[in-house]
Amino acid sequence: MYDTLIRGGHVIDPAHDVDALLDIAIDGERIAAVEPDMPPEGARQVLDATGLLVTPGLIDLHVHVHWGVSHYGIEADQCCLARGVTTALEAGSAGAYTYPSLKRWVIDTAQTELYALLNIAWLGMIGDQVGELEDPRFIDEVLAERVAQAPEILGLKARMDRVGPLPATEPLERAIAVAERVDKPLMVHIGSEARMHVPLDAVLERLRPGDVITHCYHGKDGNILDDRGRVRQAVWDARQRGVLLDVAHGAGSFAWDTARRALDQGLLPDVISSDLHTYSFMLTAVDLVTTLTKFLHLGMPLVDVIRAATVAPATWMGMDARSGGSIGHLGPGAAADLTLLHMQEGAFPLHDCEGEIETTTRRLAPVTALKRGRFLGAGPASALGLLTL
Ligand SMILES: [Zn+2]
Repeated sequence: MYDTLIRGGHVIDPAHDVDALLDIAIDGERIAAVEPDMPPEGARQVLDATGLLVTPGLIDLHVHVHWGVSHYGIEADQCCLARGVTTALEAGSAGAYTYPSLKRWVIDTAQTELYALLNIAWLGMIGDQVGELEDPRFIDEVLAERVAQAPEILGLKARMDRVGPLPATEPLERAIAVAERVDKPLMVHIGSEARMHVPLDAVLERLRPGDVITHCYHGKDGNILDDRGRVRQAVWDARQRGVLLDVAHGAGSFAWDTARRALDQGLLPDVISSDLHTYSFMLTAVDLVTTLTKFLHLGMPLVDVIRAATVAPATWMGMDARSGGSIGHLGPGAAADLTLLHMQEGAFPLHDCEGEIETTTRRLAPVTALKRGRFLGAGPASALGLLTL
């Protein structure tokens, strides 16, 4: 007898090349079987997913949920689990001195499964009055190295924004040195070249295989396109080396023009993340599934869009099936983390961060999510009339 059976949904599991009408049986916290036409009497509760998409629990590789400490911080479960995201990466709100509070009061208490990047600056992203890389005294490599050993810290974060004084490459070099010492990757925020105080090419050429360029389709000066609108050679070279491209929409880091030109030239994102925070959640970025919808609108196939928010981030995190992990896929034995989505038809406005609005004819909307076999996201499924006990 299974605990839960999810019947009749359109299952998309890019890790296993699955894109079909299938049922999913759950035992405890694990997926027990994924097969067509399983008998409903074989489970204690049955969820009718007819007309819905069923995907591995969505993974958001860039959120800011250090509530009450960072001015960017929002509540993890409201912006993640309630919006269909079962696992998320806190992208560097906390530095060495503020990380203990992130661990104790957010990571350890949220129902969303959370991991973190450690900001190379010990103060993290507390306020907006001073950029954390504006003063080299904010970086303490010994302290960062000690804190970054924590198992739930998956890498380092350097925000190349308001960097100074010169040489502006110094914070990047110091972040890379710490990342090398703890043997973890580095995520680098790219932004306006005028505020980075260093050309984008000089940042890109320092990144190592497994490092991440976040905000890859921003529309500010010095973005990934050259002055003729072509993807810079340094971007292709970085990707060739194994550097990942992460969307991280946020409040200022997604431009229709940059994304469309890049996609037209074949530069697709490896990971689609939201960069949800105080100034983007339910505002420009809305949520992760709205960010995914923007890439459907740009012409990416649905299965590739789902891949970029499931197995792709899980692989980078070392938590996919091949790494011996249990998230980002729906094979038997995987964590019973699932997201149920509705593909809505209509006319929906989609905003970028440059004031441009495009209208799409279909959008993804979160219905509910299961975390380790339990319905926790987007309202109880029983209230939606989907669940029979
Ligand atoms: Zn961010």
